[in-house]
Amino acid sequence: MSMFRLSITTICPPPLDCSTAGGFVTFEGKVRTQNEGRPVEFLEYEAFEEMAEAEGRDLLQEAKDRFELEWVEAVHRVGKLAIGETAVWIGCAAAHRREAFLACEFLIDELKHRLPIWKKEHYSDGPSEWVNLQSASNTKQLTPSELAARQIVLPEVGPAGQEALSRARVVVVGAGGLAATILPYLAGAGIGTLGIVEPDVLEASNLHRQILFGHADLGRSKARLAAEFLHRLHPHIKTVAYEERLTAENAPRILSEFDIVVDGTDSLEAKFALNDACQALSRPLVQASIYQFEGYVQTILPGGPCLRCLWPEAPAEGCVGTCAQAGVLGVTPGFFGLLQANEVLKLILGFGEVLSERQLLVDLRDGSMERLRRTRRKGCSCASSKPWAGVSKALNWEVDSEQVHRWTEPFVCLDLREEDEPDGQIELGQVAWIRTPLSRFEPANALVPGQRTLLVCATGGRSGVLALRLREENNPEAYSLKGGLKAISDPIVVTGADESCLPIKDSQ
Ligand SMILES: [Zn+2]
Repeated sequence: MSMFRLSITTICPPPLDCSTAGGFVTFEGKVRTQNEGRPVEFLEYEAFEEMAEAEGRDLLQEAKDRFELEWVEAVHRVGKLAIGETAVWIGCAAAHRREAFLACEFLIDELKHRLPIWKKEHYSDGPSEWVNLQSASNTKQLTPSELAARQIVLPEVGPAGQEALSRARVVVVGAGGLAATILPYLAGAGIGTLGIVEPDVLEASNLHRQILFGHADLGRSKARLAAEFLHRLHPHIKTVAYEERLTAENAPRILSEFDIVVDGTDSLEAKFALNDACQALSRPLVQASIYQFEGYVQTILPGGPCLRCLWPEAPAEGCVGTCAQAGVLGVTPGFFGLLQANEVLKLILGFGEVLSERQLLVDLRDGSMERLRRTRRKGCSCASSKPWAGVSKALNWEVDSEQVHRWTEPFVCLDLREEDEPDGQIELGQVAWIRTPLSRFEPANALVPGQRTLLVCATGGRSGVLALRLREENNPEAYSLKGGLKAISDPIVVTGADESCLPIKDSQ
């Protein structure tokens, strides 16, 4: 069970009630005599009780699921606390000590950030202050678009591309040497959901190429370790860990949950199984295969050319050596994993040329590269596959002036241009035009909840990034004018509230 409660009286640690746990970790946060050099006399905590309890329960459940806890409880004090009293108590029990330690550390940090609880410190040398525990935390929760700021400026990405990345669901089959670069780069790019399919636990021989993992992780599930690594890298990402081997039987259930499949396996049998499953489900398959110092990468689209266009029957498993038999340098899978991540980004963002009609071969001994043409085989079963449907369409938050003119509900235009940029309004049917330079923009002051708001700037870049951020912060009525004011070919410009706009007084 998991339980969170607030307590007005001294905390009595609840007894561990779980006979299946092998490790029980507890933490007590204490009131101490000084804070940042100032002498403290006593503390007060005040909470939005209902919200704090609901958030606390959700958080404990999250920790329970993420770290496979058998038991978890936490108590946070409210009211006045004397020096030495316990302000927060956390207890985590798991089958093994490591999960219990990790969960406890996670909860210490997250309780502080997420609970709506205020602390008032009473100092002996001056006035007291209320401190919101959430804002006191220095690890500010950044939005996905802030994390991806450097790539959003690329015209090939832009706010719409970033939105598409965040809606994309990509599954990587195999959490080995290829996945060691595929997964972090996809997470870094802001892919919203990453699946990991891997039945194995970590062995010492994996470490030289599987750089997501460390010595302390030996014996743990690689799928779960990879998911934990990605959460540390990118707090917004959703991960789904499948601790099972991909088979013809479970492939439809697992792969149909995702838009794109990436092959991180090193067995021929798995490669053909993935080829067949992806053709049947109409999913693109980004494949790489490596041998010692060389390898290839290719993308198999539904409809081919596919693996069976080249080999109607899968070659026998022993005909090409695996990494275990032939040996491999750690950089080889890392290099090809990067190329696979790049294929995924091209599929989602639509730039460049996906390697669907070619196979890219690279020999890392001399750096030679070759692109071989791949062709469809007449009569191959891939010919009957339905084309890929693409990543679920982005929300329609970037609008052009024609779309805006069709809006029937009243809306406000927020002009984000800075003071040193040209003046002037444009008639789009808005009820109000408000100049709010981006450098001074405060969502709380500028937005009315539920009011449709069209953000405009000179070219649509700043307004696009801000609209995306506002959407992430739960403002579903924020829109951006695509292409900005520059894109409006025949504008009706009203230059501020000059006299020509005022009603003409009847002089008689
Ligand atoms: Zn084929």
